[in-house]
Amino acid sequence: MGRIMNGKTMDKWASRFPLIRKIAAMDELLWLNPGYGRTPASIAVTAADVADAERRWVRFAPYIRKAFPETASANGLIESPLYSVPRMKEFLQASSSVPIPGRLMMKADSELPISGSIKARGGIYEVLKTAERLAIGCGLLKESDDYAVLADDSFKAFFSDYAIAVGSTGNLGLSIGIMAAKLGFHTTVHMSRDARQWKKDLLREKGAEVREYEADYSTAVEAGRRQAASNRRCHFIDDEHSKDLFVGYATAGDRLKKQFQKAGIAVDGGHPLFVFLPCGVGGAPGGVTFGLKQAFGENVHAFFVEPTHSPSFLLGLLTGLYDRVSVIDFGLDNRTAADGLAVPKTSAFAGKAAGHLISGCLTVCDRRLFQLQKGLADTERHWIEPSAAAGIAGPQMLLGTEFGKHYLHIHHLTEKTADATFLLWATGGGMVPQKIRAADYERASRI
Ligand SMILES: *Cc1c(COP(=O)(O)O)cnc(C)c1O
Repeated sequence: MGRIMNGKTMDKWASRFPLIRKIAAMDELLWLNPGYGRTPASIAVTAADVADAERRWVRFAPYIRKAFPETASANGLIESPLYSVPRMKEFLQASSSVPIPGRLMMKADSELPISGSIKARGGIYEVLKTAERLAIGCGLLKESDDYAVLADDSFKAFFSDYAIAVGSTGNLGLSIGIMAAKLGFHTTVHMSRDARQWKKDLLREKGAEVREYEADYSTAVEAGRRQAASNRRCHFIDDEHSKDLFVGYATAGDRLKKQFQKAGIAVDGGHPLFVFLPCGVGGAPGGVTFGLKQAFGENVHAFFVEPTHSPSFLLGLLTGLYDRVSVIDFGLDNRTAADGLAVPKTSAFAGKAAGHLISGCLTVCDRRLFQLQKGLADTERHWIEPSAAAGIAGPQMLLGTEFGKHYLHIHHLTEKTADATFLLWATGGGMVPQKIRAADYERASRI
C-alpha cells in the first residue's frame, strides 16, 4: 500500500485523474478544464453585483484622489495601463521553438496605484465597502455625498474605533493595510512565512500592525480569522471566502474592454482574446475572469498559471474538492519564490463562482519564472515580481503543447490565432524596492 493522499492511494487518484502523477512529480503542464462552459450549481455572483461595485468605485473616486494624489491624473480611479510587448514576443520566440502568432500584450497591474499589485482591485475595494457600510450605518454619510469628506480628521477618529484584519502572503496585506490605515482603521495583517521582509517593513511604516507566523498562508489566515472573531468591531477580510474581494477584482473586465476599444484592438468572434493569469487562492484571477466573461463572453479564454510547487487551484478544480484538498496531501511542499502564489489550498468561493469560466490551468517552475521576469526587464523595461511572471509562460504552453493545441482545435481557434491577442496579466511588482529588484535580477542572471 502506498501513502494515503487525501483518503486515497496515488494509484487510486491516478486511475481517476491521470494528470495527478505529473502534478505530484512537479512537471510543468497544461490541464484543460472539463467543466468549462458548464452551468454552475449555484449563482454566487451576478452582473448586478459587479455593476454595484463599479458605482462604489466611482463614489469613492473623489476620496481616493484626495488621499492618494498620485491617482489625480486618473481622477481617483485605480486602473493600470495596457501595453503592447513586441520585444518580449521576440524574446519568447527566440528562447523556444514555438512561434506566437497574433499580438502579445501585457496588463500592467504591477503599476496599479497605491499598492502596485492586482490586490489593489479586490483588497482596496473591500476596505472601502466596509468603511462605507459603517459610515452610512451611523448616519455620517450618504451615497449622494462627496466622499472626499472621508479624508477629514473626524472620519479618521470615527474609523479608529473599528478594526480591519487580514491574512496575507504580502500583497493583499499591503493593499488592505495601506488603505485601511489611511482611513483610520486599526489594522492588523497576519503574515505567513513566505512574506518578504520589505512588505512587512512597509506595512509597519504605513501604520499597520504586522503579526508574523512561521507557518504557511492557510495557517496565518486561520489565526487571523480566529483573533478577529473575538472582536465585534473587527472586520476580517477573508481571502478564502470573500465575495467582496471577488467582485472588486471583477470590475477589471469592463475597464479592459474600454482600453481595448480605445486602442482600436478588436475582441470578437474572429479575434479571440487569450488571458493568462497568475493564480494563488484563485480570488483575484477568478474575479477578473468573471469580469472578462461579462465583457467578452465566449471570445475570451482564461488560463490560470500556478507554480509547480503550489498548484492548489488546479488540484481543487480537477478533483472537485476545492478547499478540501491541499498540495501538501500530494507530497508537494508549497515552497516557491512566487510568494503571491504560495498557497496550499484554494478559495472554495472562487472555485465555485468561476470554475466553469476557466479554460484551463498551467504550472510553471520557479526557474522559468526568474527567466521570464528578467526577460521582461531586459526587453521591455517592465519590472514585475516572480509571481507576476507566471502568466508569461502561458501563450507558448497553449500553442505548443498537445493539450493546448487540442483546446484551440475543438474551439475552432487554430486558424484565428494570427488575429488573436495573447494577454499576460502582470499581477504585481510595483512596490518592490530598488535593492530587492537588483538582488532578484542578479539571481535570475545566474540561472
Ligand atoms: C495574490 C496574487 C496573485 C493571485 O491572486 P489570488 O487571489 O491569490 O489567486 C497573483 N499575483 C500576485 C502578484 C499576487 O499578489
